[in-house]
Amino acid sequence: MPEKKRKILVTSALPYANGPLHLGHLVEYIQTDIWVRFQKMRGHECWYVCADDTHGTPVMLRAQQEGIAPEQLIARMGAEHKRDFDDFGIGFDNYYSTHSDENRELVTEIYKRLSKAGHISRRTIKQAYDPVKNMFLPDRFIKGTCPRCNTPDQYGDSCENCGATYSPTELKNPVSALSGVPPVQKDSEHFFFKLGDFKDFLRMWLFPREHKNDRDIHVQAEVANKLDEWFDAGLKDWDISRDAPYFGFEIPDAPGKYFYVWLDAPVGYMASFQNLCAKKGLKFDDFWGKDSQAELYHFIGKDILYFHTLFWPAMLEGAGFRKPTSVFAHGFLTINGTKMSKSRGTFITARSYLNHLNPEYLRYYFAAKLGPRVEDIDLNLEDFVARINSDLVGKYINIASRTASFITKHFNGQLLAVQQFTKGDSNYIDGVRGSAFQIAEAYEAREFGKVVREAMRIADGVNQYFDQHKPWELAKDPKRREELHQVCSRCVHAFYMLTIFLEPILPKTAERVAREFFEKSERFRWSDLETFPVCINPYQHLATRVDPKSIPALLDESQKDMKTMAEKTSATITETSDLARHPILPEISYDDFAKVDLRIARIVKASHVEGADKLLEMTVDLGGVTRTVFAGIKEAYKPEDLEGRLTVVVANLAPRKMKFGLSEGMVLAAGPGKKDLWILSPDTGAQPGMRVK
Ligand SMILES: [Zn+2]
Repeated sequence: MPEKKRKILVTSALPYANGPLHLGHLVEYIQTDIWVRFQKMRGHECWYVCADDTHGTPVMLRAQQEGIAPEQLIARMGAEHKRDFDDFGIGFDNYYSTHSDENRELVTEIYKRLSKAGHISRRTIKQAYDPVKNMFLPDRFIKGTCPRCNTPDQYGDSCENCGATYSPTELKNPVSALSGVPPVQKDSEHFFFKLGDFKDFLRMWLFPREHKNDRDIHVQAEVANKLDEWFDAGLKDWDISRDAPYFGFEIPDAPGKYFYVWLDAPVGYMASFQNLCAKKGLKFDDFWGKDSQAELYHFIGKDILYFHTLFWPAMLEGAGFRKPTSVFAHGFLTINGTKMSKSRGTFITARSYLNHLNPEYLRYYFAAKLGPRVEDIDLNLEDFVARINSDLVGKYINIASRTASFITKHFNGQLLAVQQFTKGDSNYIDGVRGSAFQIAEAYEAREFGKVVREAMRIADGVNQYFDQHKPWELAKDPKRREELHQVCSRCVHAFYMLTIFLEPILPKTAERVAREFFEKSERFRWSDLETFPVCINPYQHLATRVDPKSIPALLDESQKDMKTMAEKTSATITETSDLARHPILPEISYDDFAKVDLRIARIVKASHVEGADKLLEMTVDLGGVTRTVFAGIKEAYKPEDLEGRLTVVVANLAPRKMKFGLSEGMVLAAGPGKKDLWILSPDTGAQPGMRVK
């Protein structure tokens, strides 16, 4: 029975624009993306929007530190985030910024409506102020000694040692983290959103006494329990303004007062969608209007529940918009059982991961661990390697790689139709197809772990069947060709269905299977389960096992990453800048530059040079021609980390006779020297031999 076509709008929380994405962020984006891809495959109208969260003090201060405008910083971070998301296959329909005209207009409109209805109040509060920097200090920018356990150097809101939470005025010996001087208390008028006005509404919305269907349940059961505690503690007014200097939107008719970043961030969901409406000709009100029949889902981390389940629905109610259908909260990511740690190298950025491992592997691993509850999930790196190698590659991919050659070689790529199977085998195929219902239900309920378990159960069955029927023996007996055809066709049919089942989790792999193997012009849809393929193309390599060496390499890079990041944020960079030490050289003509022949090269071999304490010897492939070059990068790179990498080489530099041999070119690198040297690498796609110009 075809399901009714649903209209669905989905969001993930907005990443903050002052740092790179890390694997903890990706839990949420991968979870949301899988769910969205599933809905789209089912033929529903489903839109997935997100944006960079760009406002607030941390962004403003970081931009100051880098000596650039906040607009420049957020443009750069936005582009970096976008690139990471693309590479992980996160298929946003729109990725936008909270620093947009749409957002400014919507926030202003919502504020005006709330204000008109009497939900905004003003009062003067005392706040910590930095007399040197001339600005009010957020709690996080005040440091001092914990009032409970006396640990020095703690933040103004909580102690990392004993876990106590307190207000900055309780800290002993407080100082501003920006200037190091003690803050003074200063009066300021602030604007408040009267959350208490929405007590009855929120109670009804969060704890419906009776519900007709799932659409009346807006939060997970465990979240409702937490909210119950918050209700008991009382719904306090929410401080929604900040004083200049601040990077954000100014409050209308209140010069020097800005909307707190957390007020405009969720409105960013609406703004991103409005921006999409303009591109696609959609009607904004169909999704956000008070009477909208569309479904609206927010995927968020458990740390921002208060904002999404209390402030946000209350704001929407007060301003006359629809409320979310559901807020889906998830837990945090731990790595090897503990919090991500910068010193252990387990604070892994999205980019470092991509430099070493296939993004689909992380999608698969997270999916295997994800369920509908607010639980933390653990990325155990040993288990990760084992699971990818034995399950994803060893079971699923293996089916195609071992059966396809028989079909290609003996049957010219033609599959035996399921209708021609003997009874047992056609029943089997019906059985696999029968799993579709269960799998679809699991996807809908965000039980991705179940989906993966069911898919692997099927893959196990197919591989056992293959082993039992020994096609490699059948192939030797001309009388058993029919049997060979059926055995291998059954495996390929099962692989086809498995690929459809896994498409939301492995979009890139599934897209390649559809296009290269089954010669489909479009991605798989769920309805493709109703038809069977009739032929296949020869198998092309789809995925490799994880090289266990890539894990230590990844951790090593993450550790280095964190060190450079820490160095970058230290305030002293400007005095000792590279530009100051090495000013830009006198101008040259284009013709001068064109004489230098720079080429993309692949380092095919790298080794230590006996007796040399700085040099590595490398063989580089310039797209057919190989050269030997010596480079003084021994302290910065291990030879095995260089092999296989692409870099840039000066190809027409006169050969230089060195103590250890003849150097026939030069690898380009930057940095002051010793350990701090970084060789260049081109973006993905560049090939050895290409000229750099
Ligand atoms: Zn403490």
